[in-house]
Amino acid sequence: MTSSFSLAIHGGAGTLRAADQTAETEAAYRNGLAHALRAGQEILQSDGSALDAVCAAVRVLEDDPLFNAGRGAVFTHEGSIELDAAVMDGASGRAGAVAGVGRIRNPVLAARAAMEHTRHVLLIGAGAERFAAEHGIEMVSPEYFHTRHRWEQLQKAKAEAAIMLDHDGARAAMSFEPWKTDNKFGTVGAVARDRAGCLAAATSTGGLTNKFYGRVGDSPIVGAGTYADGRVAVSGTGVGEFFMRGLLAYDIAARMKYRASTLSEAVNQAIGEVLTAKGGQGGVIAIDVAGNVEFGFNTEGMYRGCIREGGEAVTAIYRQA
Ligand code: ASP
Repeated sequence: MTSSFSLAIHGGAGTLRAADQTAETEAAYRNGLAHALRAGQEILQSDGSALDAVCAAVRVLEDDPLFNAGRGAVFTHEGSIELDAAVMDGASGRAGAVAGVGRIRNPVLAARAAMEHTRHVLLIGAGAERFAAEHGIEMVSPEYFHTRHRWEQLQKAKAEAAIMLDHDGARAAMSFEPWKTDNKFGTVGAVARDRAGCLAAATSTGGLTNKFYGRVGDSPIVGAGTYADGRVAVSGTGVGEFFMRGLLAYDIAARMKYRASTLSEAVNQAIGEVLTAKGGQGGVIAIDVAGNVEFGFNTEGMYRGCIREGGEAVTAIYRQA
């Protein structure tokens, strides 16, 4: 078995067309992805763990206002921030997650702390924030997450809901399908295989623009948006409800485990049968124990990138790179 590392990341999938992007915005996204790849690569090439690498890469993307996680998170219908994140260590099978947090700068670090310092998997809301503060994780005020483009995105989503539905705000949010308005899912994630052959996955998100209060997506749900074992590590992005109903990340692992599917077969069949056939949209990044990387999505594009030991970092946005 190879002893080389591989790392793959995503910054969300969706209606991404070259014609809709300027050269500057495209370069900014690619720079953000490259920066995250470098953070993970530095760890992996110094014999660091896959777990450390995925946390480092996701942290960089959380700090980048372009992506829907951490600093650049989207707003709920009520204009608040409710972030979700998870991390899973394939070697030990341990996992940690936080959901519905609004004051933690890097939710991926809180997810990791939950994994390492509690006997639990998922902490939510005020309790998760209290736990994070107690463990020395950086807390920020809600204004930290207030970016203009996300605020405008919310106003647009609300306006379209009002046109579509003649309801008051709360009822509109309840029946409104947020993903119909702005088909860009900016969640971030990373999967890695380290030199020791261990795998890990991490995912972090602000969820869906205009989401209902208290709504939690797939990202912090182990087996739905995030999963890692000794065979494969997966991180997803898209309409979380479909990932949760179909346990998409675990579905990929199960195909490899029970059917001996290859990584590529497992990813493509899962996207087809669990997502596309049910009307869901999104994508995944996945890595297997041999260090193979697979990107699968049924949207027009997915911000993504990867680096393999001895190779150059590669980033891509559209279906044709
Ligand atoms: N999967 C995320 C969620 O449903 C959204 C995204 O991927 O952007 O919360």
